[in-house]
Amino acid sequence: DEAAESATFWHHGSLDRAKLEQRVSLMGELDRAIDSGEIEVHYQPKLSLADDRITSVEALVRWRHPERGMIRPDLFIPLAEQTDRIAPLTLYMLDRITRDMAAWRERGLTLSAAINVSARLLTHTSFGEALCAVLTSGRIAPGSLILEVTESATIDDPDRAAETLRRYRDLGCAISMDDYGTGQSTLSYLQWLPLSELKIDRRFVQHAHLNHADELMVRSTIDLAHGLGLKVVAEGIEEEGCLTFLKEAGCDLAQGYFISRPLPLAELDALLGCHAKV
Ligand code: C2E
Ligand code: CA
Ligand code: CA
Ligand code: CA
Repeated sequence: DEAAESATFWHHGSLDRAKLEQRVSLMGELDRAIDSGEIEVHYQPKLSLADDRITSVEALVRWRHPERGMIRPDLFIPLAEQTDRIAPLTLYMLDRITRDMAAWRERGLTLSAAINVSARLLTHTSFGEALCAVLTSGRIAPGSLILEVTESATIDDPDRAAETLRRYRDLGCAISMDDYGTGQSTLSYLQWLPLSELKIDRRFVQHAHLNHADELMVRSTIDLAHGLGLKVVAEGIEEEGCLTFLKEAGCDLAQGYFISRPLPLAELDALLGCHAKV
């Protein structure tokens, strides 16, 4: 098992031996981490720009490691993808998220939640079964769960992926194309996949109010998405000027540190409570 993992890592080139060993051991620990409650979900609010309300959140995984502290997803998600641990991790996230959504619903909150799903999981049998079970259980409101499909791995079988996504969509799941603008075949995916939302990557958004090329990219993406009947989410809003620009440009939803950092559940609940009172 470990030898197979090493082969995968070496394949990517420039890692030295120490880093390699560290990564192999981190993946061994991930299995334990899921069972021992070290994996947490944080939620980052998305602001609806038409009415200045928080209408949805994105779930982001956090690993609170007993010795290393918080480990960033950028450090273990790509490894989990390479070593087939992304399925158990995503299943765990799905379970946590749907519990939280059911609780919000009971309290009368209308809130959508997005889960990040690697493209390669789209055709994974147990993930598909778990997702369909959630969508048909009646525990969450129809249309309130969003799959953010990340393109970190290219889709091997686009026909099969599209067919699978259509099934999820027909069961009331919304599909969002994440990190738009950074992938290799994003334009063809736009035509191919049954999307309802497009997320512009933060590298284009961050300086769109300051940089003409970024501004053009954002404006033309909004036009294209709206032309295709999709909602547009911009991520990585760190300044007020950026938010003002996005409102003017007709963007639908905005997400970023200027609006809110990703929050643990209790802090999100407090924030939503304040909003409801206003
Ligand atoms: P992403 O899906 O593009 O998520 C947005 C990332 O941008 C998050 O990083 C978020 O904390 C960060 N962010 C939000 N607002 C701002 C901002 O204003 N400025 C800047 N500089 N960053 C901002 P995070 O939580 O570290 O996650 C990194 C990536 O890891 C995610 O990128 C996603 O691709 C992946 N990821 C996170 N959770 C999961 C998960 O449960 N499953 C899978 N498959 N991938 C996940
Ligand atoms: Ca995402
Ligand atoms: Ca993104
Ligand atoms: Ca990203």
